[in-house]
Amino acid sequence: MYHRIKIKLIWFFTMQEQDEHPSYRRLTLISMDACDFCDKVEKPGPYMYYISIETKNGWVTCANETCKKKGQAALDHYMQTKAYGKANGLKGKCIKIQRSSGKVEENWKLSQDFIEPLVDENGIERVCVVNESNEIEKWVNTHKLIELNK
Ligand SMILES: [Zn+2]
Repeated sequence: MYHRIKIKLIWFFTMQEQDEHPSYRRLTLISMDACDFCDKVEKPGPYMYYISIETKNGWVTCANETCKKKGQAALDHYMQTKAYGKANGLKGKCIKIQRSSGKVEENWKLSQDFIEPLVDENGIERVCVVNESNEIEKWVNTHKLIELNK
């Protein structure tokens, strides 16, 4: 009996989380009455919650305060748990990277412009890193990056 209740509770929380944070989408040509968090917009927005200006991915809400809070919460949740894919734990840290020459350099960091990881044509997950002065940008192998920064 206890076991069954526990399963139902887990399911409930999982569903609730999905409701709170719908998938992000590309925010282009957004109409005034667009909202990812309610069905019937009463106060038009739109308010944009961008993961990244570069990719224009994120959420849109109407002017309803509850929807705006949900938009911000979806963005915060993404940044805390999903940004940079498996390299999420390296956010805000000084990181080491290996240059093409084989030389290891310190003082790099994850890019603040490209937050979403990508998978290249060989199926390798890559994440964007920048050097100290933001002048050099590289898409590095996430797995190798994590190994190097253990
Ligand atoms: Zn709304």
